[in-house]
This record gives sequence, structure tokens and C-alpha cells, in this order.
Amino acid sequence: MAFETVFGQERVKQILTSSLKRNRLAHAYLFHGCPGVGKDAMGIAIALSLICQEKVLGGCRQCSACLAVQRLEHPCFHFILPVPTRPKTMQEREYMDILRDRALQRIGNPYKAITYSPELSTLPIIGIDQVRLMKQEVILKVAGSGHRLFLVSQAEKLTLSAANSLLKLLEEPPPNTLIILTTSLPGQLLNTIVSRCQMIRFDTLQEEAIENALIQKWNVRQDRAKFFAKMAGGSLQTAFNFTEDGFEEKRQAALSFLSDSLDPDILNRLNGVEKLLNGRDRSELQFILQIILVLLRDLLHLKSENREMLINIDCLNHLKHIHTKWPQFDVETGMNGVEEAIDLIEKNVYLALVVTSLSQKFNGATAH
Ligand SMILES: [Zn+2]
Repeated sequence: MAFETVFGQERVKQILTSSLKRNRLAHAYLFHGCPGVGKDAMGIAIALSLICQEKVLGGCRQCSACLAVQRLEHPCFHFILPVPTRPKTMQEREYMDILRDRALQRIGNPYKAITYSPELSTLPIIGIDQVRLMKQEVILKVAGSGHRLFLVSQAEKLTLSAANSLLKLLEEPPPNTLIILTTSLPGQLLNTIVSRCQMIRFDTLQEEAIENALIQKWNVRQDRAKFFAKMAGGSLQTAFNFTEDGFEEKRQAALSFLSDSLDPDILNRLNGVEKLLNGRDRSELQFILQIILVLLRDLLHLKSENREMLINIDCLNHLKHIHTKWPQFDVETGMNGVEEAIDLIEKNVYLALVVTSLSQKFNGATAH
């Protein structure tokens, strides 16, 4: 089967297979859809399709061209990712090595989010320098009748100057060059960029596709795979995060933060905030917030007596306790608060502020 490294997304596969076979690809695409549904995976698969010596759709992954793409050493493939700025204390060499390592991780598993150590804590962006490098590449001729491909991941993170510079490239598309932008937030891109690209929407994944991917690709036990697929809300990236070590501990942290936040005693609430923060970084907190979101959805099902819909059945007692103790808790307001908090963390708002404000929001949602 073609594109076997891209899970689900049959409709998208059909569109792109047909364009590839007829040699009718657009100059530029904008792949949009939720995080972790396979936009970058598809971008990489397109690059491999165009560059593979065996001309296999999605790449044979064995010829020297495919291997070079996967090592990020092929001159015709450029993978542009948002990067944090280099701290003054870090040598340029070390910094570049880290960026390269993360890009290799991403190409090895495009469903896994990239994380950086705390010393690289600035919000990752795609800066003007990265777009300038693209433009330098474009001046060089592609060997033979080959194609050159730029895959710009999370294009919403282009700075304004970088976006304007990229726009010029899109306005005068160089020959034999394909530019693929991926984003979960197309509304944050310049309209002028969006209008120059063919848009392709990626749907959230079916639970079954996620379950199969976890089992086949990452050897997750079937019962666990089923559970994480339900938890993941259609994103293989989220499911993948959940399969990493420490899920139980993080779910416990999620439950106790929830209970602490609903407590009328402010000291307990502040204690809850501190316990949740506990030196955790941005991505760990987002992970826990995503778990809270599913726990709250379970709480809604519990309230409306839809028990067969419960996902965290093994936490039933804890959920029942919350439900009985704070029956007036407005769960939907709580869920909105969590979504907002995830968004604020994405925007690099001070973590203590985000968590404190969420705790207040939960508590406010119990008041009548
Ligand atoms: Zn190949």
C-alpha cells in the first residue's frame, strides 16, 4: 500500500496519489488539521515519492536517495521546523547539533512532538534566517529532472518578516520546486500566503487508526492501545505522548489538581497549584492538561449517567467522589478553562500564572 507511514487520511492519500501519478502537483500546498494527525508525515512521504530512485509512492525507504532524505542529507529536501533561540551561554555548534537531532527525531517519527531542555525554553519560531536559507537553495540548480521540496512544519510559527519573505518565494515559484506548509492554525497565517497554496484538510484520526498505529508501529499492548486511542481525541501525537512512561503518575497529578482546585479552602488550592507545577516543563503540563480534559469529559458522562462512554473506568471511584462532593461543578466551563490554559502554554505564558488561573476558574465553576 502506498504511503504506509501515514496513518488513516485515506481521502488525502487519494488526492495526492492522483496528482503525483499525473505529475500534476501544485507549486505549494498548505496541509492543515489538528496536531498529530499526519501532516508532516504526509509531507515527508511526498518528498520521498519525488526523490526515491525506485519511484515508489511514499518512498522505498531503502535506496540511497530515500536514506539520504531520512538522514536529512539529501540536497533536494529541506525540512524547516520552528526552533527556540540560542541562549548566549550555548556554543553555536552545540545548538546546531541539538536542532539537527530534533529534526532527525521528527523525521524518524513525525507523530511525536519535539521537546527541548529548559535552557532552550524560548518559544520556537521560524525566523527570517531560515527563509533566507531556503532562498539561497532555490538559486542552486536541481540536478537532472529532479524535484526540490521544502517542508515547512508548523507554519503558523513563521515570524512576520519570515512570512513576508516566504510570500515572495510563493509569488514567483521556482521551477521544479514544491513547497509544503503544515499548520494546525491556518487562521494565524497571512491571507496572502494561504491564497498562494492549495489547501488540503487533514481530518482527526479514527480511534481504530490510532489503535492500529500504536500496536503495529510501536508495539503497544492491545488493551493499552485501545485505551490511549480513546483518550487521544483523534490525534496520534497525543496518543503517542500518553504511551510514554509516566502516564499513571501524570493522571494521578491531574486528578489531584482537579480535586484540590475545587476545594473551598484557598490553602488547599494553592497547594494544588504548587504540586502540579512541581518543576514540570511546558510540554509535561500540556500533557497533564490534556488528561484533565478527558477526565472532565468522563465526569460529564458520569453526570448524565452515560457510563458506557467512560474512558477512565479505572478512575471511577475518584471521579464519583468529585461528582458527589461538588455536584454543582459546571464541567463545561471547566473544560473551556483547560482548553484556554493549553493555548496559553502554547503561547509561552508564565506557567505559574496559567495554572493558578485555571485553578481559580475551576473553583469559580463550583460557585452558585
Ligand atoms: Zn527509495
